[in-house]
Parts: sequence; C-alpha cells; structure tokens
Amino acid sequence: MAAAKAKAKGRAALYAVKEGKAALQRKSCPRCGTGVLLAEHENRLCCGKCSYTEFKK
Ligand SMILES: [Zn+2]
Repeated sequence: MAAAKAKAKGRAALYAVKEGKAALQRKSCPRCGTGVLLAEHENRLCCGKCSYTEFKK
C-alpha cells in the first residue's frame, strides 16, 4: 500500500508543473535565468551554457 501510494505521488509530481507550459518537464537554469532550459539526461539535468547540473531524485 505504501509503495503504491508513493508511486502515485511520484507520477502526480511529474504533472504538477503544468500551469500553461503543457507537460514540459524542463526546468530553467537557476544561474542563467528563465530563458535557459536544462537539458534532460537519465538522472540529471544539465545547463549547456554554464554546466550547472542538477541531479534528479
Ligand atoms: Zn546555466
């Protein structure tokens, strides 16, 4: 039960950020600003501009 609940929560989190921006899961770089999106990799997000890397959980 706990596992199923956690899974559902994780999925919901994927779609939590859809206020206008469809289902875009891309985040903006905190260093470069809102215009620069982070490239998505297997387990991390990277900024191609300043090399900022954010690990997914
Ligand atoms: Zn950047």
